[in-house]
Amino acid sequence: MITVSGLNKTFNQFPALSDINFTVNKGEVVSIIGPSGSGKSTLLRSLNLLVRPDSGQIQIGDKHINADTLTRRQTADFRRQTSMVFQHYNLFKNKTALENITEILRFTQKLNKAQARERGEELLAQVGLAHKAAAYPGTLSGGQQQRVGIARAMAVDPQVILFDEPTSSLDPEMRREVLNLIEGLAGRDLTMMIVTHEMGFARDVSDRIFFMEHGHIIEQGEPAKIFQTGSSNRTRSFLHDFA
Ligand code: ATP
Ligand code: MG
Repeated sequence: MITVSGLNKTFNQFPALSDINFTVNKGEVVSIIGPSGSGKSTLLRSLNLLVRPDSGQIQIGDKHINADTLTRRQTADFRRQTSMVFQHYNLFKNKTALENITEILRFTQKLNKAQARERGEELLAQVGLAHKAAAYPGTLSGGQQQRVGIARAMAVDPQVILFDEPTSSLDPEMRREVLNLIEGLAGRDLTMMIVTHEMGFARDVSDRIFFMEHGHIIEQGEPAKIFQTGSSNRTRSFLHDFA
């Protein structure tokens, strides 16, 4: 589903990503953990080309890009393979919950008004917010706003959903409701990559965990390997600091 090879990105000579290589299978849930500044967000943003890599190749589904020869048209086309859920929701404040979703459906999926409405309502129901269709983001709790953000990310039927710290702006109880929702999605056939500081969640929900430091994936494996046995001293000390 995703194949990344030889991916590099520097910011003013600072290596934010150094020779990143990995594959993710269809339906797999991968969490990315690691210290602040290790390149987690840069990696996710490279996958949807919000960040343009300096070099390397990315394949997602049936689309392939090479950073050296990337054109604007390819960029726009490649971006449709993924959708992103942000820490700060990024909803349109002057549109209702439903309109936040129907807007994207009409624009990207070319649905007519009635079709977009029907699909939008279906998606809101899936995130438990059918009753908030007409509410504006400002009147929703943080957790509810993020659930709208997740419904919107699902609306475009992406090959992969990318989450960048989806619960970091939330109070503990709202965190739980969003984590539960993502955990429910993980049980479906969706391919997801999740940057998170929620170690318990990463352990429970992931098929695989990547541990990043200084722009490298320095360790990866199943949660049992990362959290219990066989992980490196460095990974253990990072997890220890979190406990
Ligand atoms: P956090 O856990 O704090 O979100 P992160 O692992 O997501 O950290 P990144 O945001 O990917 O880290 O940043 C990796 C490095 O690249 C950092 O040193 C950061 O300062 C730098 N960086 C990221 N984006 C930019 C940018 N647009 N311009 C310059 N430097 C950047
Ligand atoms: Mg980040």
